[in-house]
Amino acid sequence: MPENVTTTSPHSPEKALLITIDGPAGSGKTTVSRLLAEQLNYQYVDTGALYRCIAFEVNKAGIAAADSNRIQKLCQGLSICFRKVHGESRIFSNGSDITDKIRTPEVTMLASAVSAVPVVRRHLLDIQRKMGQKKSAVFEGRDMGTVVFPDADVKFYLDAAIEIRAKRRHGELKTRHAQTLEAVQEDMRHRDQNDSNRELSPLKPAEDAFIIDTTHLSAEEVVKVMLDTILTTYCGRRV
Ligand code: C5P
Repeated sequence: MPENVTTTSPHSPEKALLITIDGPAGSGKTTVSRLLAEQLNYQYVDTGALYRCIAFEVNKAGIAAADSNRIQKLCQGLSICFRKVHGESRIFSNGSDITDKIRTPEVTMLASAVSAVPVVRRHLLDIQRKMGQKKSAVFEGRDMGTVVFPDADVKFYLDAAIEIRAKRRHGELKTRHAQTLEAVQEDMRHRDQNDSNRELSPLKPAEDAFIIDTTHLSAEEVVKVMLDTILTTYCGRRV
């Protein structure tokens, strides 16, 4: 069998692909990336969780987001990995499962600040590229197609109107953190601004990305468009 061949899913193209999905918060990336990875029987990597993990540890250690030296030392002493627990991908920091602790509004805002620190981006760049070596993966983030995997096989960029994105995120958070819809939208606007205007790896579509506006689409409809794009590109057939 030739290298990089998978025969695991009826939807899988024959070649093992590395697929990137970028876009702002609430554009539907996470749900869609998970579904797409499931359909293709690919690994799913939520790179936002890596930034959240560092933000969580920075906060725990009482380090200021501007203290690049201390953050660098902290990163060097951290061992971050994803592990499947009962079929669910969970994130571990120095052996502790912190999956449920990294979704608070505080960690969310700190992740955005910490992600603009060059030593953090450099540190996570190597980790992400190692994770992508075997391909057969869907990587979700902000700079997957532009910086981390510029040679990815298929790149998608999702976007949606901010009101819709805020509503989606508010719906997800409602059961966990009491934040009003207005507060969620305000945080989102702030994060969009940070993520799009930072000097290093700003949020933007790669030139060769397929851009999908998800404002009026369900997650299943977005996945259908993606599968169609992948199979047309790699197998010359439509789903
Ligand atoms: O995707 P999620 O909302 O969990 O990401 C949290 C934060 O991590 C984002 O606001 C962004 O600042 C940062 N991030 C990034 N690059 C990525 C993924 C996330 O800068 N590839």
